[in-house]
Amino acid sequence: MKYLRADFPILKKQIHSKSLIYLDSAASAQKPQQVLDAMHAFYAEQYANIHRGVYALTEQATEMYEAARANVARFIGAQPHEIIFTRSTTESINMVAAAWADQHIHAGDEIVLSELEHHSNLLPWQQVALRRKAKLIFIPVNPDGTLDLTHLNVLISSKTKLVTISHVSNALGTHNDIDPIIRAAHAVGAKVLIDAAQSAPHQLIDVRTMQCDFLAFSGHKMLGPTGIGVLYAAQSLHDQMAPYQYGGGMVYEADFHNATFLKMPHRMEAGTPAIAQAIGLSAAIDYLREKVNFQDLQQHEASLCARLIQGLGLMPHVRILGPIEQLKERGHLVSFAVNGFHSHDVAAYLDTFGICVRAGHQCAQPLAKKLGITSSVRASFYLYNTIDEVDALLEALRKI
Ligand code: PMP
Repeated sequence: MKYLRADFPILKKQIHSKSLIYLDSAASAQKPQQVLDAMHAFYAEQYANIHRGVYALTEQATEMYEAARANVARFIGAQPHEIIFTRSTTESINMVAAAWADQHIHAGDEIVLSELEHHSNLLPWQQVALRRKAKLIFIPVNPDGTLDLTHLNVLISSKTKLVTISHVSNALGTHNDIDPIIRAAHAVGAKVLIDAAQSAPHQLIDVRTMQCDFLAFSGHKMLGPTGIGVLYAAQSLHDQMAPYQYGGGMVYEADFHNATFLKMPHRMEAGTPAIAQAIGLSAAIDYLREKVNFQDLQQHEASLCARLIQGLGLMPHVRILGPIEQLKERGHLVSFAVNGFHSHDVAAYLDTFGICVRAGHQCAQPLAKKLGITSSVRASFYLYNTIDEVDALLEALRKI
């Protein structure tokens, strides 16, 4: 996939007089020229607010925004009206918490999640549990970073109203086996939310095959701009969702004391939305569809993980975290700890070689505590990374 690097202007950049080696795509991916061009063309030639005016420019902008929605829908096997544009995965999850959970979760009900969750798929549920007097139940994580599903049918019970789980863990790279979890949830009538922030950029998703009720992801992790996220909400749930915010763009009719609201998805998109960002996300999806075969991508990323794991395995001062064999087969990131060094110091040291990695608790503090680590270093890959870059990382770590 090396030939695709030419599409990413930032990869020509030097950092500290060294070629940039960007190994932090799980935090946010770099953008190809095609995405930058699509957003620039919209601002330079077609820009206007949407859904408001009756002049040609606004009508064209509205069409482009709605075409972006249809493109996202096609990408994940949904209907356009099942796609709500949000700011991010975080906002998508908070939207489910406020628009659905606050209406349907009551005292004594249970919300099931896993010990692997990103704070974005944990903290909103802590707040729902506090507000609704509900209980959080956690699917435990094994020492190797996989989920322990042995007692799934006890953890998910008639009290469960929602199961909310990451598809792929941002902290350890684990691909969670979500099929049995979704089946168990539906068997007791619970709804399922999938946090696809780490999967949507790397594998084809079909919400119909998956049979989830909600699915959330972010544009910026899949070559798109920041400020745009997606919430898929199955049509069957639309009548159960209250507006998330109130204001312009979501009203059918208003008088001084009351208002009625538009249908989904517009009911959920109060105010001027991120129009250019939706168009940028659509361009990113076109790029992925036209230039990337997802099976090749997964193989490529896994081969980079395998090379890194092999190299790190020879370093007695390094402890690799997560399900090593799984990562070698289909991972896109590797987390590790370096004995005697804080992860921030490791990342700062690597920066002097132009190498960008993530360091810290990876927005999953409870997981870090459970695994007995204070923080870790994470190298994450995408289509533009190369074996040479992995070797440069290993070479730098050997000298630490
Ligand atoms: N969930 C997971 C698994 C993530 O990796 C991230 C981003 N690190 C999020 C949620 C939150 O995404 P965002 O910051 O785009 O809202």
